[in-house]
Amino acid sequence: MSAKQPVRNSGIFDQKVSRYLCYPSVEHFVPEVGGAQHEAWLRAIPSGGRIGVYIHVPFCEKLCWFCSCRTQAVRSPKIVADYVGSLLREIRRIAELLPAGVEIGRIHWGGGSPLILSPEDMARLGRTTRSSLAVAADAEFTVEIDARRVVPETIEALIGQGMTRSTLFVQDFDPRVQRAIGRLQSLDDTGRAVRLLRKGGVGSIGIDMLYGLPLQGCVQVLETANAILSVEPDRVALFGYAHVPWMAKRQNMINEAQLPGTEERLTQYGIAAEYLVRAGYDPVGIDHFVKPEDAMARAAREGRLRRRHLAYTDDSLDAVIGIGASAISSFRQGFLQNERQTVAYSARIGAERLAIQRGWAFSLEDKVRGRAIEMLMCGFRVDLAALRREFGDFASILDAGLATARERFGEAVALEGETFRIVRDGPILARLIARCLDARNAAEGRYSGAI
Ligand code: SF4
Repeated sequence: MSAKQPVRNSGIFDQKVSRYLCYPSVEHFVPEVGGAQHEAWLRAIPSGGRIGVYIHVPFCEKLCWFCSCRTQAVRSPKIVADYVGSLLREIRRIAELLPAGVEIGRIHWGGGSPLILSPEDMARLGRTTRSSLAVAADAEFTVEIDARRVVPETIEALIGQGMTRSTLFVQDFDPRVQRAIGRLQSLDDTGRAVRLLRKGGVGSIGIDMLYGLPLQGCVQVLETANAILSVEPDRVALFGYAHVPWMAKRQNMINEAQLPGTEERLTQYGIAAEYLVRAGYDPVGIDHFVKPEDAMARAAREGRLRRRHLAYTDDSLDAVIGIGASAISSFRQGFLQNERQTVAYSARIGAERLAIQRGWAFSLEDKVRGRAIEMLMCGFRVDLAALRREFGDFASILDAGLATARERFGEAVALEGETFRIVRDGPILARLIARCLDARNAAEGRYSGAI
């Protein structure tokens, strides 16, 4: 790309690129890193440290065609209850390995759909977490909520377990788009869920919306954004639909001829982002829009925003422990992932009490590159002086990648003293520029497009 060429008119967004929720990305994990590291890394968390716990529920009542989450359709309450039994065993085993004095600062139930759990199973899970682990009095407890399944009893059960934050998923409210993606969800259902959550005292509500869906145009995207704002969420995440049928077979149900092209996706992102900002939300990172008084907006302003496997976060945790099938743990030393198949996960938890399948142990180079990529994704800049303070002279590992970025992206980037900066179009360019710093991007065929 020449320096003068407008970024938005180029074809660079057709490229496949990681979302950089972690570095190295999960497809690089290897089976040689597993149970031994898990035990050692858990024991190495400093006493007095604060960690997060992510609990994965890999079940939904019915699969939506667009979704690439690791989940399966389940109707039998017994399968769900048995799985919860495995989660409880894993939690107890983790608790045995954690040093005394380690506190849980964040809990997240995700999926799949955690609302598929019965109130009794929610209570078992909440009780065991609190009786086995030292949950801090001010711990944030987030639950992913499927608005279509919300009934007052479920919300009461979750609030009874201490839920403080919720994330809801909307995609698009146009019925034609909803039929094309195999998921029907009305604004009435969504509004009712939000009202019940607020009434129960849930202080922070986020809503995820998608652009780039089949039959979706700018009108639908704007109308959806407008409808979402009518329920006054604290955070809105604006994600591009990732069409990866080679990874998520259910996406073969999507009619590819109905998908908008790259230019249209760029426009959809642009108008939705502008709309959310004009409505008073602060843009955060590449895809979040947050009320200015929200903790995540404050973290972004103060340079404390982080990026983890799930999304952006304002936490400063020493580690996040993934519990459940396919769940990923992140430690200072590396990443670990549990058995991805639910049956295999439960079998291993029953026999061995832990179920790590693969992982990655960081080299110093991984740490430098990973931190630099995180800086780009969070604040569109790489602070080389901060990297030198943290890693010594090894920040020079980035020299070649930064030179490539300057060559490819011309005036869209600048090196000013010790700061490499994306000076325009940061949210849409960050992934592409981050790839210049990625020494392990060979798996690009697995990724979705760059916008
Ligand atoms: S969108 Fe939610 S309910 Fe639908 S398949 Fe994905 S996780 Fe399940």
